[in-house]
Formats: sequence, structure tokens, C-alpha cells
Amino acid sequence: MGRYFVTKEVRFCYGHRLLNHPGRCRHLHGHSVKAAVTASADRLDERGMVCDFGELKQAVAEFVKEKLDHTLLLHEADPLVPLLRAAGERFLALPEHPTAEVLARLIFEHVRAKGYPVVEVALWETDDSYACYREPFLRHASPEARQ
Ligand SMILES: [Zn+2]
Repeated sequence: MGRYFVTKEVRFCYGHRLLNHPGRCRHLHGHSVKAAVTASADRLDERGMVCDFGELKQAVAEFVKEKLDHTLLLHEADPLVPLLRAAGERFLALPEHPTAEVLARLIFEHVRAKGYPVVEVALWETDDSYACYREPFLRHASPEARQ
């Protein structure tokens, strides 16, 4: 039996550094990225959709805008954290390294918690590099479960 898939793309910017990186990524730098969020269902809802593109975009964008966009993303052990806090700067300290892989998973978890049958989030960090987080299909994704 076939499946349906829909993908919504959302673009945003962030700064970060990767403390354990042996090369240039250990220095502060920024990315202008594209998150491609894919939802899937084995049958369509009463509207003939997996989910509405606009609703899916809203679920992604609310998290991205509030947490990630124009934010400096750091490991919580980064010595810059207390300095940024004292300066009143916008940052997010994570319990893990702020890689594209981790950001893809954070977006995935937010959108699925909102009740969308998301199966994959790909985070395009550059034109030719993306990281992806996937989980198995939801067995009983229903529009009613969405908040
Ligand atoms: Zn980077």
C-alpha cells in the first residue's frame, strides 16, 4: 500500500559554535538555513490532505521564531553563556552540541508534539549539506489530536 507525503520548507538564521569541533566550526559563525519538514499518512483526512501546508508551516514557524531564528545556539557548558546572559543577548543554551542534527530533532519533536504526523525533518545548513532526523510513521495520526 502506498503512502502520502507532504513537505513544508521554512527558512531561518542562527549563530552557533561547536566546542568539540577540530576545525573552523569551533569559532562563532552563522548559518542561513532551510528546514524541510515532512509529514506522512497512509490515508487522507476529510479535506483530502495529509495536513494543510499552512497549518504545518505555522507549527514549525512558531517554534523556529520563538527559539531558533536570529538566536545564538550554544552548548550549556560554553563559557560564553554567562557573558551573553549578563549582556542581555538572545541565546539558547542546549544540553547537547548545537549541530544541524540536533536542531532537526528539536524541530521534529516540537511539530510531532503538536499532533502533526511528521516523519522527517531535514535541516539544510548549506546548499550541499543537510542533516536529517527521522522517526517511524505514526500509526494513528488524526487531525483531532492537533492542538
Ligand atoms: Zn556551523
